Amino acid sequence: MKAEIIAVGSELLLGQIVNTNAQFLSTQLAEMGISIHYHTVVGDNADRLRDAIQIAEKRADLILFSGGLGPTKDDLTKDTIAQHLGLSLVTDEKAMQFITEFFEKRNRPMTENNKKQALVFEGAEVLANHHGMAPGMFYQSSSHTYILLPGPPKELEPMFQFEAKPLVAKQIFKNQQIFSHVIRFYGIGEAELETELEDLIDTQSNPTIAPLASDGEVTIRLTAVGETEADAWSKIKEVQAEILNRVGKYVYGYNNDSLALKLKQKLSDAELTISAAESMTAGLFQAELAAIPGMAEVLVGGMVTYNEKVKVENLGVSQQTIDQYSVVSKQVAEEMATQSKNIFGSDIGVGITGAAGPDAHGGQPAGTVWIGIAFEDQVTSYELHLSGMRNTNRIRAVKFAIHYLLQ
Ligand code: ATP
Ligand code: MG
Repeated sequence: MKAEIIAVGSELLLGQIVNTNAQFLSTQLAEMGISIHYHTVVGDNADRLRDAIQIAEKRADLILFSGGLGPTKDDLTKDTIAQHLGLSLVTDEKAMQFITEFFEKRNRPMTENNKKQALVFEGAEVLANHHGMAPGMFYQSSSHTYILLPGPPKELEPMFQFEAKPLVAKQIFKNQQIFSHVIRFYGIGEAELETELEDLIDTQSNPTIAPLASDGEVTIRLTAVGETEADAWSKIKEVQAEILNRVGKYVYGYNNDSLALKLKQKLSDAELTISAAESMTAGLFQAELAAIPGMAEVLVGGMVTYNEKVKVENLGVSQQTIDQYSVVSKQVAEEMATQSKNIFGSDIGVGITGAAGPDAHGGQPAGTVWIGIAFEDQVTSYELHLSGMRNTNRIRAVKFAIHYLLQ
């Protein structure tokens, strides 16, 4: 099943709005295991829209349209497709009633062109619009499926999810069950992960295997279709077992898990508390943890110790250590972790110091980070050499710190 999205609207071509509808629809289709081969953007022009449809028909089975269903002259998606497919337009009574009531309630006269919005293709399934006036459509010809959706995202998104998606499942997947499952990795790059799983990615079609990287995290989405739920799941589990077999040591969670959530669960289960002294991340580590509800159970507090004076006078790092080893060093990260643990009385203390970039800091090149973790009477430290921009490095340092705490 190959799909193409045609977003209609001159504002998209002029750069006045961003094509978030294509992004939304792509994410939704990928979750259903449908491959999106092309995104097309075309202005409000019937000839060019017709060309776009003809091209899409050659390379896709399912064509989704966004925009141009409204009442104004430039809304020509419906008419153009109807003409192209030789379909007549009929009034959908439900949509007409909705539009009539809309104007009655507001005590405004309904104009002729508003009635145009209730016209649908003969033989199409009508997709109700609960957040606007123009209904959408699902139409199957002998060779293609066409889905027409309104432009405003607050109308398109629920219409796709609640009206169109069930029809896709019913008509295209013949009521088969579709399930998606996400595996979350940390500490391995996307390219390395893909290399480890190359043969699986190249040969699997059910489930499909889709890797995605962001902020140093990599996820793999497995999507399977089956006669029953159990059937789809057994296909997912089989491939997941092989993935875990190869790269399981980098897996930290599944689906809606996050590194911070896993850390909260781990510390809660062990009844341990944590605090942090942060330099280059200046509070980001604590903010990342605090995003998880109930974090107060484990996160005691911490300190932002950005300059040397504060590290020495307020946190109690020794000036001699800084002078001897550099402010970005294993020794300073370890002292920061230990002092944080002592001052805040937590079971675990974390110290993060580094050169976020773009310039070197403390004699260390940009991207050098030291993370110290103090627990009981032991201090462990980790060195990173990051290559991102300043803020990417700061976020990655936080995520690596959580990753190490999870080990
Ligand atoms: P309406 O009845 O509101 O006119 P419509 O189906 O005719 O809906 P358009 O006129 O093409 O849709 O677009 C209406 C508005 O929807 C645009 O001004 C824009 O704010 C938003 N919109 C349209 N297309 C997109 C898109 N691809 N991505 C995000 N927003 C969009
Ligand atoms: Mg419009």
